[in-house]
Amino acid sequence: MKMIFMDHTSGMPVDSNVVEAMIPYFNTLYGNPSSLHSFALEAKKGLKKARENVANLVNADKNGKIIFTSGATESNNWAIRGIAVRNKERGKHIITTSIEHMSVINVCKYLMQQGFKVTFLPVDKYGIVDLGALERKLTEETILVSVMYANGEIGTIEPIHEISKIVHARNSYLHVDATAAIGQISIDVQKEGIDLLTISSNDIYGPKGVGALYIRKGTRLAPFVLGGGQEQGLRSGTENLPGIVGMGKAAELAKTEMKTESKRLSKLRDQFINKLLQSIRYSFLNGHPKKRLPNNVAIRFNFIEGESMLLNLNIAGVAASSGSACTAKTLEPSHVLRAIGLKHEEAHGSLLFTLGKQNTEEDVNYVVKLLPDIVKRLRAMSPLTPRELRESV
Ligand code: PMP
Repeated sequence: MKMIFMDHTSGMPVDSNVVEAMIPYFNTLYGNPSSLHSFALEAKKGLKKARENVANLVNADKNGKIIFTSGATESNNWAIRGIAVRNKERGKHIITTSIEHMSVINVCKYLMQQGFKVTFLPVDKYGIVDLGALERKLTEETILVSVMYANGEIGTIEPIHEISKIVHARNSYLHVDATAAIGQISIDVQKEGIDLLTISSNDIYGPKGVGALYIRKGTRLAPFVLGGGQEQGLRSGTENLPGIVGMGKAAELAKTEMKTESKRLSKLRDQFINKLLQSIRYSFLNGHPKKRLPNNVAIRFNFIEGESMLLNLNIAGVAASSGSACTAKTLEPSHVLRAIGLKHEEAHGSLLFTLGKQNTEEDVNYVVKLLPDIVKRLRAMSPLTPRELRESV
């Protein structure tokens, strides 16, 4: 049976060109970039090229820094804690949103225990941040505003440029978690006025366990890992060179392929959404219909549960998700779906398909043909289904 993978926000296959670029750094170019011999020189070259490629993907300026980390979670932890530690004399207020990833929310909660005040901004029914609330909540005490570029669970893209203008008018720093958006849409840290940007490798067909933080020149940020002084003294520890080289190659490929691939995926996404909404009654789109990531198809179906649909899809060879992989372990409905105003039972009926390079129109048509029957069967068994719907789709 053919397996169709449509869960790309939880993990992506590593591009074969990326694997090829990484291999020499395991067993041939294995020198430590901090050493003083020619093996080290080769390693240093690999590190430099990867940094340039990642900088290029987000149009980072020469004065800004790209520092490699172990992934988006670490970059988010560092950005928020690093600003808090270094700027606490100026103020102890942080603003974020109610739809951030847990690697932002939990750091903010930790800082609250340490005496910081955190404001969680509301979003509208599409997941767009309330800019009026941002303006009202910013004070002289606000040292950081952290807003994601786009939400991977509902696909909504945030108005980062407008947010940046508001934040900088009040002399605060802006951190943006670009994990879900990177490689999907073009990001320009200079044009958009971003001080700190979280970038992950496994969202651009690179290896897992590696990421980066862009730091604009002049941003007062405490180092995150102390030790031998690698990564310009900001993130010590011998560099994960194969991973970093892989991320660099993935960034280079994303830069060249993104425009064409995003156009292809957006078309596929819209076909997928329209066909599902047309063929299944009481189905609704989660997130914004237009300001939306090209790969994101998030739909909710009344009266049934996402998990039951997932298991049925898996049996038929389709891998999807009921929400973010991180909350899938708990029975609690996702905080993102609750923040856009969905009731418990509506949030529970959500399915998330995230498309990728290898998905085709044929794959989409297969799922569109399959899902109505699954929904019909589950609704027939659900006590929540109204009588007139039990026998139809
Ligand atoms: N931020 C966002 C928006 C995410 O969707 C994720 C999960 N893919 C993360 C951060 C954390 O990523 P990782 O688990 O790769 O550190």
